[in-house]
Amino acid sequence: MRILIVEDEKALADIVKKGLTEEGYAVDVAYNGEDGLFMAENEPSDLIVLDIMLPIVDGMTILKRIRKAGLKTPVLMLTAKDTVMDKVSGLDSGADDYLTKPFLFEELLARIRALIRRNSEAGTSSVEIGDLIINMATHEVRRCGKAILLSAREYALLEYMAVNRDKVLSRTLLSEHLYDSDFDLDSNIIDVFINRIRNKIDRGFDVKLIHTVRGAGYMLTV
Ligand code: CA
Repeated sequence: MRILIVEDEKALADIVKKGLTEEGYAVDVAYNGEDGLFMAENEPSDLIVLDIMLPIVDGMTILKRIRKAGLKTPVLMLTAKDTVMDKVSGLDSGADDYLTKPFLFEELLARIRALIRRNSEAGTSSVEIGDLIINMATHEVRRCGKAILLSAREYALLEYMAVNRDKVLSRTLLSEHLYDSDFDLDSNIIDVFINRIRNKIDRGFDVKLIHTVRGAGYMLTV
């Protein structure tokens, strides 16, 4: 999953980026509203964390613009303001959730997970693909009841494939949702990760869940 943070307090933005990266998310940061609007419209984000008070273009304007353009990416508003009116106008403008500063990183993380879950087709906290169960709240992965240990990046790739189960996902699409724009994109890296995940979830089982679709990409399906 790829998250865009639009926040002009550099220290805060960088701490949130570091924390989310450690959780396996790909994170882009915009330090002003103009860059934020451009990135929201042009980068394939799965979620946007949007501050309201921003230089050049404020967060509320960005939110209205992207919703008007038809972008349905979940938006979590971040702000120092905590009056009822601000919350109401944010939610009215198409925000999906709201967090008032100062906040604990754990709370931000919990809300991000909840929003991504809500936005996924299943709408539940776990996805079952045959005998594989992925718990998106705890990041636990089990196959036939046996716990499987994955790195944060491996988990992120598997979760993205699970949320988009039964669909062919190209290497480009997978890397776009796993890496931020600073990453030097080499789609071979996806093959490397797929092989690692395969070794962990498919090896030793007759039914393979990760399928290579020649010339197109990969698919997670029974
Ligand atoms: Ca601000």
